[in-house]
Amino acid sequence: MGAMETTDRFLGCIFGLAIGDALGAPVEFLTLADIHRTYGDRGIAGFEPWGGFPAGSYTDDTQMSLATAFGLIVARSRGTDPSAAIYRYYLDWRKSQEDPVNRRAPGNTCMAALEAERKSGLDRPVNDSKGCGGLMRVAPIGLAMHPEAAFEEGVEAAALTHGNPSGTLPAGFLACLVSRLRAAESLAGGISFAMDELKKRKDGGETSDAVQCAIRLASSRVSADEGVRELGEGRIAPEALSISLFCALRAGDDFRKGVLAAVNHGGDSDSTGCIAGAILGTLLGIDAVPPEWIPAVENAEMLQRTALYLCRDPLEAAKDTVDALVKRAIAGIEEGEASIARGMGPAALSRLIRKRVAGELLFWEDRKIQELHPGLQPDLARAKALEECTGKAEAAFTA
Ligand SMILES: [Mg+2]
Repeated sequence: MGAMETTDRFLGCIFGLAIGDALGAPVEFLTLADIHRTYGDRGIAGFEPWGGFPAGSYTDDTQMSLATAFGLIVARSRGTDPSAAIYRYYLDWRKSQEDPVNRRAPGNTCMAALEAERKSGLDRPVNDSKGCGGLMRVAPIGLAMHPEAAFEEGVEAAALTHGNPSGTLPAGFLACLVSRLRAAESLAGGISFAMDELKKRKDGGETSDAVQCAIRLASSRVSADEGVRELGEGRIAPEALSISLFCALRAGDDFRKGVLAAVNHGGDSDSTGCIAGAILGTLLGIDAVPPEWIPAVENAEMLQRTALYLCRDPLEAAKDTVDALVKRAIAGIEEGEASIARGMGPAALSRLIRKRVAGELLFWEDRKIQELHPGLQPDLARAKALEECTGKAEAAFTA
């Protein structure tokens, strides 16, 4: 297996959080005994319908994570302040909750803070909450920013609805951790980096205790159930962070195992599923996510596009040319796999080049692809573009 592409981590993060959330949604308000009674001894193991919504539907955790992502994308393309853009999308989200189709068990603290007369923030909080609502939505910040900046921005984004340092610092921690994982850091290394950042802030005691407890339990012999129970219910942010870290640390390279451990408990299952899913998805990449869950989660195409937009500026992708795309695909192979590629037979080489080109074409909107092939259906136009670009790339590579 070659080195993992950055794109794979972005897709892993966004799909990971939505999938973890959707797995946890049906059991958010159930005790562990109730979960076992309803879904069997091993607990919930796949998407199930909940609250009148079909299996695979996600909750406010993913809706707000997407709002965070949209804010980051817009701020980057306009060169404006991310917090202000994120806040605008949170207000839109609050409004969207008036429609029963969109109302996915939203957190009261988030709703109330976004309905307040004035904007909440670090200097003037509107409450003293340390609920996990500020934390569960900030993973995309880690995809868009460098680790130190991600910590700051995570805290600021959480402070838009949560006033207590134990409600905002875990968010900084998570955004910072995701940013390290995005850059191919190990989980232990990422946690230790985020911990050092946390220690620079005041009032981080509760958060740091929770993280340390998760690390200690993860390397102990307690069962997953006991470990999670000891860490709490995850309704407050330090607990939600520690449960998610514990499950991620225990998962190794098994996304399914980690995320199912993060939802099968008597606490805030959708939020811990969402956070653990984001961590493991960024760490392990989209290929580690069980393939049956990817198309089955709500709005899969929109999730994919959001991850790709975070990874590359859509304005830049819109200006892309076939030649530039072919050049990038080749450069990718030259950088990481040149010696392997040169030793390959023509069929294997062709497959490798095709995979690279297909990865690049993911950034192109259907509309742009259809400009190349007017009159063709989107799928056919895409297939034809892939064929042509692969041919050009092969010619360029062997020249
Ligand atoms: Mg939720």
